[in-house]
Amino acid sequence: LIQLFRPLDVLGWVYRTIRQGLIDMGEMFRLIDTDIEVKDTPGAPALIIRTPTVAFDNVTFGYDPGRTILNGLSFEVPAGSTTAIVGPSGAGKSTIGRLLFRFYDPLSGRIMVGGEDIASVTQESVRAAIGIVPQDSVLFNENLSYNIAYGAEGADQAMVEQAARDAALSPLIERLPDRFETMVGERGLKLSGGEKQRVAIARTLVKNPPILLLDEATSALDTRTEQEILGTLRRIAQGRTTIAIAHRLSTIADADNILVLDHGRLVESGDHVGLLKRGGLYAEMWSRQAAERRDEDVTVDAEAA
Ligand code: ATP
Repeated sequence: LIQLFRPLDVLGWVYRTIRQGLIDMGEMFRLIDTDIEVKDTPGAPALIIRTPTVAFDNVTFGYDPGRTILNGLSFEVPAGSTTAIVGPSGAGKSTIGRLLFRFYDPLSGRIMVGGEDIASVTQESVRAAIGIVPQDSVLFNENLSYNIAYGAEGADQAMVEQAARDAALSPLIERLPDRFETMVGERGLKLSGGEKQRVAIARTLVKNPPILLLDEATSALDTRTEQEILGTLRRIAQGRTTIAIAHRLSTIADADNILVLDHGRLVESGDHVGLLKRGGLYAEMWSRQAAERRDEDVTVDAEAA
């Protein structure tokens, strides 16, 4: 019987390994949510950024023919500033991130990074310039060093350790007997949501991109962890051009500029105070979310009592 089970064991291992590979792939593709379909123009040069500005110039886009998701969208993000993108579910916020990373090309209009149309340079060079801290980051079944260095070619251990410090991972790593050699992921140490976010932040820091794309980076965390992570994100956004896609308005109220998107159109923009005064969609979303926050507080108080 043992003879019979041994090959099955091996098969089980192979199956689990393949399955894990597929999970990793699946997560990567969920992250970018696309089949890669954009091709570089033959002979396209690499993007060289002198000033890390981002601009959408009259961009129209749809995933399927006949259904437009973004409609004539124009905005500019000055170098070193933070722009938040907010709006109801399905408004097209994440689509903006996917277009910026050039997983799709617009149907019309242009997307400019550092003054260059991203359709005329290599995708690789565009992606190298942009660091993403996604909603749910992927951890590979490898050690912490590997997971932090992932995506940054030529990152050495000193860079990994510096990034871990800057992402406030040190308290975790100091508790681990194997420190940076600790295996993580499905078959290793399970990290909490906040710790995974910190690994994603460290990964971005190793890459040291001039542009940051934060995709609703803290929604799954408890309030205290969320506040700590937001503090770290604010610190790493200093000196970088940042686009933050957000659901919870309280996390982006201090952005230099807030774009309010509705059905793929830019309906309002400005800073938090200006948008509240305007009394439009942003103000409406803000009071709704403030009421929800009060309800949550009441529930927490009631549970604590
Ligand atoms: P949420 O706040 O719910 O994350 P969002 O504002 O980020 O929403 P997007 O994810 O940009 O919205 O989606 C905008 C619209 O595009 C939605 O109607 C969505 O169903 C559609 N969509 C998104 N991805 C695809 C896709 N790969 N193929 C077809 N339609 C898609």
